[in-house]
Amino acid sequence: MKTIFIEGNVILEDSIEADICVVVDEGIISHVGRMPKKIPKDAKIVSLSGKYLSPGFVDIHVHGGAGADFMDGTVDAIQTACHAHLRHGVTTIFPTTTTGQPTQIAAMLKAVKATIRKKKPPYPLPRIAGVHLYGPYFAPDKVGCHSKEGRRDPTKKETNGYFKSGLIRIATCAAELPGAADFYKTAKQHNCLITCGHSNASWNEMAAAFENGMRHVDHFWCAMSSVPTVRARLGVPMQGSMTEFVLAHPEMSTEIIADGWHLSRELLRFAWQMKSAKRLCLVSDCNRALDMPPGRYPFGNEQDEAWYISDGEVGRGADGGLASSVVALDSMVRTMKRLTDIPLQEIIRMASLTPAERTGISDSFGSIAFGKAADFVVLTNQWQVESVYLSGNLVLTN
Ligand SMILES: [Zn+2]
Ligand SMILES: [Zn+2]
Repeated sequence: MKTIFIEGNVILEDSIEADICVVVDEGIISHVGRMPKKIPKDAKIVSLSGKYLSPGFVDIHVHGGAGADFMDGTVDAIQTACHAHLRHGVTTIFPTTTTGQPTQIAAMLKAVKATIRKKKPPYPLPRIAGVHLYGPYFAPDKVGCHSKEGRRDPTKKETNGYFKSGLIRIATCAAELPGAADFYKTAKQHNCLITCGHSNASWNEMAAAFENGMRHVDHFWCAMSSVPTVRARLGVPMQGSMTEFVLAHPEMSTEIIADGWHLSRELLRFAWQMKSAKRLCLVSDCNRALDMPPGRYPFGNEQDEAWYISDGEVGRGADGGLASSVVALDSMVRTMKRLTDIPLQEIIRMASLTPAERTGISDSFGSIAFGKAADFVVLTNQWQVESVYLSGNLVLTN
């Protein structure tokens, strides 16, 4: 059966169009353009009454929500966190690991696999397109709010086990760690988006990582090197850092946490100006405090000693430093709209098509275009998520 979405402001890859319709056939977008002359009698018409029809959001860096962290490692926790993000317009999600013991990471992978296999989840879930293996391979001096005990250098023995799961689609490792080169090579064999994060790498270390397939850097400006931090580690002459390397290489992409607390408006705009919407992703980096009251929460697995305080707007660690965000991608979209003059379609691109492209799923997801899955978010004129569609079916209304 066909469903036809009409009377909306349709957010396309490069423009927003008011006078077009979107036809969905068997869950796939079969037409984007003028109203077809012949409308089948049994077609379902959905009027959007002037609201925005946006592609569903794709979150490539996200730790949890609604009280659950993916590292809790149970099907229950995975479902709870995933559903919370669906409510905020995320239709494709990459559950993200923190630092943690090998058993904890293995449990998380197992729970994600079991969640994907579940035929009838208790409530609608976004598509889980893979896992982001983020922790534990951080530089010792850039662990941030993650559990320090859970950090280590990569070894083939440990990482092969994770990659064998077939779930890892995004793989992070600090470029200066012993074993990083092997990690990147294995990640490349598994077609991952390879990223360097929580790192104090120099330009030369980044260049070596680039040779091995590294093409992305996690949360720009957060837990990453700058010229002064590289000088503190390696002395003079001063050397380039991750920052300069990303800005100098068009092939490199990165991501920003646009909650209004991590980065000021000029940095949000600067990142877009330098990298363009095609190489910059919005990520939530959201933790379990999403949609939860302010308070003290465990970071990563509940049994670990790392924790933070959520004030309802951002998380802060024991030292008062920022400890990831407590809001989802819809909120990041609104913050970008509020704090910058970046066109809405480019803001939406950074939350949908660009992360889909970087993770190799853009043939089927990430934009409203012919042949792609009909995963939509209906946004009000204030860019609040009103409803969410997966494969053209309404799965929730806020
Ligand atoms: Zn981080
Ligand atoms: Zn994170």
